[in-house]
Amino acid sequence: MLTPVEALSAILDHVAALPGAPRPLQDILGLAAAQDLRSLAQVPPFTNSAMDGYAVCTGDLVSASRAHPVRLRVLGDLAAGDVPKGAVGSGEALRIMTGAPLPEGADAVVPVEDTTRGTDWVELRKPLRPGIHIRLAGEDLQVGQRLVQAGQGLRPGDIGALAAAGLPTVNVHPRVRVAVLTTGDELVDVSEEPGPGRIRDANIHAVCAQVAAYGALPVPYPRVPDDRATLMQTLKSALEADVIVTTGGISVGDYDFMKDMLEALGAERIFWKVAQKPGGPLGFWMLGHKPIFGIPGNPVAAMLMVEEYVRPALRKMMGFAKLHRPVGEAKLEAGWTGKVGDPRTTFLRVVARREDGGMHARLTGPQGSAILSSMLVANALAVIPEGVDRVAPGGPVVLHLTEEPEDH
Ligand code: AMP
Ligand code: MG
Repeated sequence: MLTPVEALSAILDHVAALPGAPRPLQDILGLAAAQDLRSLAQVPPFTNSAMDGYAVCTGDLVSASRAHPVRLRVLGDLAAGDVPKGAVGSGEALRIMTGAPLPEGADAVVPVEDTTRGTDWVELRKPLRPGIHIRLAGEDLQVGQRLVQAGQGLRPGDIGALAAAGLPTVNVHPRVRVAVLTTGDELVDVSEEPGPGRIRDANIHAVCAQVAAYGALPVPYPRVPDDRATLMQTLKSALEADVIVTTGGISVGDYDFMKDMLEALGAERIFWKVAQKPGGPLGFWMLGHKPIFGIPGNPVAAMLMVEEYVRPALRKMMGFAKLHRPVGEAKLEAGWTGKVGDPRTTFLRVVARREDGGMHARLTGPQGSAILSSMLVANALAVIPEGVDRVAPGGPVVLHLTEEPEDH
């Protein structure tokens, strides 16, 4: 049986980034750049005014003061989008709006608030440094400057810079399509009143939501009963996706057909079972280049395994340089007691918060693998290594931070 670390590295060894393709800016939020992205233009493209005011020659204002204002002749108006008709000479000024190109001759802009606001003549009462309230051509971005590194996820700020820099399309890795299959005779749709012995299918919603939260594209499939033929048929149609994630039927129960059906389909088993709690019977197969995750049905185990194993794989396939959540160390407030001699790694759901420059974690409550309420408030997973059966109150634990810790 593999340890969680071995299992994850086996998974990552088998998956590769899907090739990049050009996509328009409006479709790239959250995707990873498939190459370094460099500016195609200088920004700003021309020297322009940073204020609404008057473009002037600072040499005219050297002697300006409250007692002896300097009077300049106003040549006209220049709005953003206009181009200057001529130069500004000594003794002259041009009314200029923010973003309008700086006319030849002018070397600064006086904000309108600091003037008498005239349209024919304007008076100025203090000297001005050359270059003030001016944005120089290229002062923000240079042609060829790297804006985004390959493997970086694209955020709104990146997209704004790419637009200003003249890239209408960029080369990004695609969203991975993930077929999500839930299996079990007992499952009914959330909208149904479960009959005797039946339960609502939580996993289809939980796992699809996780996949979407990771920036991939979940494709929910119709629920699969514990029946070989239907499972086979659904798996075959799920092959159109880039990745398959199934829940349930992966253990050693009489109706656990997932392993057999995947292997009948020709998938190569990379491993089955990970020494971890909750959720030991995770299986991982490859069918050609297609990874298939067989995940146990207990909703908490399922979500935890999607988080720990499927997420890094999806991120690698989507070309992200950074595959893992931030790791931190916290004091586990009330401590924890497990089984003596348990050869498994235990994942505990915790609420992490920062306090006094350190991190603290408290258990979310009962930790059973079917206790969905433990997922409602968790923002981190505490990882207790194999062989550790006790953490003293306030003792250290390693956290995988699935969200930002609370701040207190
Ligand atoms: P299995 O992995 O199929 O043995 O299922 C383990 C437990 O998880 C059983 O109690 C199932 O009823 C439950 N379970 C399986 N699939 C789901 C699901 N999609 N939603 C909620 N519970 C499930
Ligand atoms: Mg089952």
